[in-house]
Amino acid sequence: MTKLDQIRAAESRLLLSTYDRSPVLFTGGEGVYITDENGTKYLDLLSGIGVNALGCNHPVIVNAIAEQSKKLIHTSNLFYHEGQAELALRLAERTGMDRAFFANSGTEAWEGALKLARAHAGVLRSEGKQIGTKFLALDQSFHGRTYGAMSTTYKAKYREPFGPVVPGVEFVKFSDVADLRAKFSNEVCAILLEAIQGEGGIRPLTQEFFREARALASSTGALLIVDEIQAGMGRTGKWCAYQHYGIQPDITTLAKPLAGGIPMGAVLCTEEVARSFHPGMHGTTFGGGPLACAVAIAVIEAIEKDGLLAKATAVGDYFQERLRGLKEKHDAIVDVRGKGLMVAAELDSAELGKTAVAQMLKRHILINCTSDTVLRFLPPYILEKTHVDTAIAALDEIFTEYATGQGAAASAGGHQRG
Ligand SMILES: *Cc1c(COP(=O)(O)O)cnc(C)c1O
Repeated sequence: MTKLDQIRAAESRLLLSTYDRSPVLFTGGEGVYITDENGTKYLDLLSGIGVNALGCNHPVIVNAIAEQSKKLIHTSNLFYHEGQAELALRLAERTGMDRAFFANSGTEAWEGALKLARAHAGVLRSEGKQIGTKFLALDQSFHGRTYGAMSTTYKAKYREPFGPVVPGVEFVKFSDVADLRAKFSNEVCAILLEAIQGEGGIRPLTQEFFREARALASSTGALLIVDEIQAGMGRTGKWCAYQHYGIQPDITTLAKPLAGGIPMGAVLCTEEVARSFHPGMHGTTFGGGPLACAVAIAVIEAIEKDGLLAKATAVGDYFQERLRGLKEKHDAIVDVRGKGLMVAAELDSAELGKTAVAQMLKRHILINCTSDTVLRFLPPYILEKTHVDTAIAALDEIFTEYATGQGAAASAGGHQRG
């Protein structure tokens, strides 16, 4: 029995059955490569679902963890430490926000944002304004797994087994301005969206819809909340994806790459919104601890020192250009989209999606498939064009083999795949 087999057997007995893991055991890594127990290197185009923005074991992160862990790892939020205000200032300067609350994960940041919006509506009501408690979320949205986040997440399979969900959530058709107008009223306390949907299939919102959401929210005092947990922190070539639209939300959330692999989330908001929280209304034991803050500060410094926003734009554009080239050649690719290093190729079949991910893994390249048919690439920001070339060559081979296999199966009278 290999070590991987032993672990698989043990996990199947000992863990809750929530994941369908790929059969690979990772034990190390460096830069854009992650290494399995046999020392085989995998080109990581997924970076732990958009978390390892600086790749594996970046010296800046290793150093920040080492230095801070020698000083102080945890204090609780009952006391001051050196990191929170410093990180809040850096994030505020880069996102156009005023204040921050730090949490431990994406879903927890999102919960904070929802609570802040409901509290803000309460403040407005106490000032005599007519405003309700309803949330408008978008079709195909993903905001997390805890109750509030799950209740604002579109896919029924994430919500239905756990009902009743949090009431007061209505879903609007993606980028459908007429549907948004029809569903918006002064019953709504916030419009919730991702500028570029991640789990929903790397779908950028239209400028027109985003502008209308901002205008409608402003017209009643409702809030525009943008979830940047996947797209934010430089992945798209700007600190936040909403900055590509020139639209400023009232609240935004960050997480995945925020502290370079150390769990951390953040709620950022305007001064006007911030006045709705008072001591005791919200909190966390671990959130914004000294270790996570020190690493997040180091991540921001490294992104700027190494010019990684410009690099994400350049290498991301190249990635899309090469995928469009593949699309010319392979009918199975129906769309290529994204921004910076948040890139997708939509396929014409879910079976091919699964096959492509498995075949890439065989070739030691990590990608995944979201929304059934969308190959998703969320590589570290340190990716080079040569790595893109490697991935494109592998995909070219896989699509060619698949089409050939399909042709052979069809001519042999077998079932067509897809
Ligand atoms: C991953 C993700 C979340 C949830 O983050 P967790 O850290 O997994 O709780 C929320 N929103 C978006 C857009 C995400 O991509």
